[in-house]
Amino acid sequence: MATTSKNPETIVLHAGYRSDPTTTAVAVPIYQTTSYQFHSTEHAGNLFALKELGNIYTRIMNPTQAVFEERMAALEGGVGALALASGQAASLFAVQNICHAGDNFVCSTDIYGGSWNLFANTFKTMGIECRFVDPVDPANFRRATDERTRCYYGETLPNPKLAVFPIAEVAKIGRELGVPLIMDNTAAPVLCQPIKHGATVSMHSTTKYIGGHGTSIGGVLVDGGNFDWEKHAKRFPMLNTPDPSYHGAVWTQAVKPLGPIAYIIKARVTLLRDIGAAMSPFNAFLFIQGLETLVLRMRQHCGNAIAVTEYLVKHPKITRVIFPGLQSGELRRRADAYLAGGYGALIGFELKGGRDAGRAFIDALKMLYHVANIGDARSLAIHPATTTHSQLSPEEQSQTGVSDAYVRLSIGIEHVDDIIADLDQALAKA
Ligand code: PLP
Repeated sequence: MATTSKNPETIVLHAGYRSDPTTTAVAVPIYQTTSYQFHSTEHAGNLFALKELGNIYTRIMNPTQAVFEERMAALEGGVGALALASGQAASLFAVQNICHAGDNFVCSTDIYGGSWNLFANTFKTMGIECRFVDPVDPANFRRATDERTRCYYGETLPNPKLAVFPIAEVAKIGRELGVPLIMDNTAAPVLCQPIKHGATVSMHSTTKYIGGHGTSIGGVLVDGGNFDWEKHAKRFPMLNTPDPSYHGAVWTQAVKPLGPIAYIIKARVTLLRDIGAAMSPFNAFLFIQGLETLVLRMRQHCGNAIAVTEYLVKHPKITRVIFPGLQSGELRRRADAYLAGGYGALIGFELKGGRDAGRAFIDALKMLYHVANIGDARSLAIHPATTTHSQLSPEEQSQTGVSDAYVRLSIGIEHVDDIIADLDQALAKA
């Protein structure tokens, strides 16, 4: 039997799989197949009618993905998960599953630049309005809500500001108004379970900490199963009225016997079916390998990050260090309330010498990699103003907290002395 443990250390190794039923293989096999033989025409009919859940075609489901999905659902405290080809696909699906042309959603200004582009520009072309609000005051979400608002969206630990999102506060407003909260939890796996704090959906770019080895692009959505879609039927016609794309299925009713999985099943059998952003079985296998050491890695990431901030705050060339553990007041309260066991491994700092010093520092690094990524086992650095955030206008950049002098570090799991030694020699040249 697979585990029923609630402990993340055990979940990442045992949830959703004991051994392969035909070969008894202990490692999860890579089911590299496009399709699955039906037992009979009745069996095939039941699968398509969702009377029975089972494998039909790998664009929509796959046994290797299924183990990964079960582990992610257990880790995040949800009722079901959907693996996708990228974090971007997960952000898109998370919103598009319940937000159609003419609708709007309210989104934190503190989000990943790629999500910003998707929401502000691509969604606009689809007739979906993204209303950006500052999460400093959770009431901003209430103010921006109207009868066409379908969800709220935030990031647990958004860089560059590294100001932890007020998850329970915004979720509570949403519950009063009948609006579910979607959280991008990419930067804080294990440290935070947004669903426990009232969010309805938690998503990850699994490209980052979940994979950990920097080998694969992927994403996942986890459904908390904790939102009453029927109670708010007027706001969610897409889950409460017949879906013409699935022979008139009403999602809150069609899958009721299987549990509160209307949101995640709809995302799988309509959006994934139509858009096709599936995670390959091989990548699902690699994410399963990553998950196995996730809890251990997060401990080392977080411990190293604290030691690095202690070094950086004392450095004479650095004017400011941005890190949740160094914040005070309400920001610190949120960091302590929503991050358990560490403040994450992202650090920002600003150099006295501004843009030129930032670039000189990056060019002088020998061990840290200069890449547009976070969450790798290796330590990484980047200058956001000229890279990840360069497609934003100057006003948008400053809204997201990027200055010309800002350098972002994603601290890895190497020996911390080696990380600090590399920072030290590069800062000497900055
Ligand atoms: N969300 C966050 C917080 C990210 O940092 C990223 C990528 O950097 C994404 C989503 C998008 O993920 P992916 O690159 O896997 O599409």
